Amino acid sequence: MNPNERISWLTEKLNFYNNRYYRDNISEIPDQEFDFLMKELIGLESEFPELKKDDSPTQRVGGTITKDFAAVYHRFPMLSLDNTYNEQELRDFDERVRKALPNETYEYICELKFDGISLSFTYENGVLQRGVTRGDGSRGDDITANVKTIRSLPLRILEEDLPEILEIRGEGFMPYSSFERLNAEVEATGDTPYANPRNAASGSFKLQDSAEAARRGLDCYVYSFLSDIPVFNSHEESLVGLKKWGFPVSPGWKKCQTIEEVLDYIHTWEEKRFELPLATDGIVIKINSYEQQRELGSTAKSPRWAISFKYKAENKPALLRFVTFQVGRTGAVTPVANLSGLHERHKPYEQVKGVHLSGSQVKRATLHNANELERLDLRIGDTVFVEKSGEIIPKITGVDTSQRGLFDTQPILFPTQCPECATELIRKEGEVAFYCPNERGCPPQLKGKIEHFIQRKALNIDSLGEGKIELLFDKGLIHTVADLYDLSYNDLLGLEKDIYNEQTGKSKKISFREKTVENILKGIEKSKSAPFKNVLFGLGIRYVGTTVGEKLAQYFRTMDALMAASYEELTAVPEIGGRIAQSVRDYFTEPENQQLISRLQQAGLTFQTDDLPIEKEGEALTGKTFVISGVFQNFERDELKTKIESNGGKVLSGVSGKLNYLLAGDNMGPSKLEKARKLGVVILSEEEFLNMLEN
Ligand SMILES: [Zn+2]
Repeated sequence: MNPNERISWLTEKLNFYNNRYYRDNISEIPDQEFDFLMKELIGLESEFPELKKDDSPTQRVGGTITKDFAAVYHRFPMLSLDNTYNEQELRDFDERVRKALPNETYEYICELKFDGISLSFTYENGVLQRGVTRGDGSRGDDITANVKTIRSLPLRILEEDLPEILEIRGEGFMPYSSFERLNAEVEATGDTPYANPRNAASGSFKLQDSAEAARRGLDCYVYSFLSDIPVFNSHEESLVGLKKWGFPVSPGWKKCQTIEEVLDYIHTWEEKRFELPLATDGIVIKINSYEQQRELGSTAKSPRWAISFKYKAENKPALLRFVTFQVGRTGAVTPVANLSGLHERHKPYEQVKGVHLSGSQVKRATLHNANELERLDLRIGDTVFVEKSGEIIPKITGVDTSQRGLFDTQPILFPTQCPECATELIRKEGEVAFYCPNERGCPPQLKGKIEHFIQRKALNIDSLGEGKIELLFDKGLIHTVADLYDLSYNDLLGLEKDIYNEQTGKSKKISFREKTVENILKGIEKSKSAPFKNVLFGLGIRYVGTTVGEKLAQYFRTMDALMAASYEELTAVPEIGGRIAQSVRDYFTEPENQQLISRLQQAGLTFQTDDLPIEKEGEALTGKTFVISGVFQNFERDELKTKIESNGGKVLSGVSGKLNYLLAGDNMGPSKLEKARKLGVVILSEEEFLNMLEN
């Protein structure tokens, strides 16, 4: 098979496996084999970029950097729907439809309304060409590179006789599972977590780095089809058709003959929707027949044939029993309201069930910070209103002051000292949270650092999960992450502890037997080969998440170089701003951190990237840019790349106006050559290139 045939074959195979997996839930081949084929394709594509297919599955893993998203006009405006919270208004809507369609029968299609962002996908000749946000309805942002990372969205529609251009619309969202994972990471770097999955989805679809978008696990459901040439006659047909073509269509939709059936559908999902793996905020009701949709038409703002019904965020009264103050990994102190139902006033707190809210029992709600306590003018014993809407963590929205005179209430005193270590709390300039500054002695901060260090994207010591860190910490065996590497078999064997799970209310005994101890030590040993970028992330430097860790590792290559880097050198790294640079500087200037790093180095952790740094040969190519294409007599492509870089030049991935030289070998793609000529790029032969080096 020549490279072109191999690339075609791999593209088709991988797309097929991907569809089987995401559409039909069937794994045709083991993950490992899939990754292996994917790697081969990535390799071939970087060697022969001109042979890359439009629907290449490598786009799923991202890698495109977009500085500014181009604004794109929608071919058909993206109208918003009228919405209501009120059942009577739905009946009024039905009444208007009935009057506008006299003597006709009509049907409704009801669908769940997902809480994400509206997207439009354009396919040309069956291939996904563009993904655009709704924007202001007539114009949105081109976020194609990020949209292509949605694994459930087909890159090519395998169907004959499609209109040349078609548009499919849907909702891009972040499932709860991805959301929780992302927020845990964001919090680990000391940043503010996203308030709800919608904000997280919206932020992630607009990331400049599509590889990061790919990691975040975005998803979508499609719900609408548009083309110049009609394909379907009704909304129902389009949903069935899209599903058949391999698109992700939410299975919850239902055809209803009357508005009463619609209301039943709404009632059915009011509670049931909380069992879904993603956030929903209502129901969309559409007239089924396209013919009738056209008859009804649209106003300037919204169609007359559709309406959305929004569920009210459930808001219930509860009793504020007491407030606890939690200290997080970064030292921030968060007040937490501990609640019971109003009728549970006299029950001991351990026995209360709490308030039933949006599908679960709620006993605790965040109070965010001291300002929030003041704003609400909250007192212990107050009757408060609790709400759980798009937010995952319930919050208190107000106080029923009319109840104040009836029961005894007491003021809430925000502690001046850390509840965990008694250190005086501080408030940093411009921040609302109080912090415990005792970074090196405050138990939750220390434990948090170690838990951060062992997670999968850091040193990946999963044999230390599930409360084991807590146990080792409480026994005084570990204080910092460096202590992990001093643990011995005898230290660990026979340790025991009861771990209480707050969510389930159950206790679990963990004890370290031979097998457990062996696993722990094996995991710790294995972590020494975790890549340098993971080590950087694991250190828990503020604002250094996985992406920043990777960028720093790639750029500086060794821990020594990174530690020696000045503020200016750090900000010279692409995408590293002043805030990150300062935080990195602060971290490495602390003597305690330097000591920790030196202990980790002695333990044998990976402190440099695997590939060797480029050795400098000369300056002949300084400031010049190259694209390499085709096959060469004396060099492999990789060798040419190294040659260019070691002489001060830079290799770019594609031909553009900024490019200086196209280094052309045999059999290079004619389109690339033509593009280079058009843009006035100098075309170099292998021989000319070698001459250039010598001068
Ligand atoms: Zn403390």
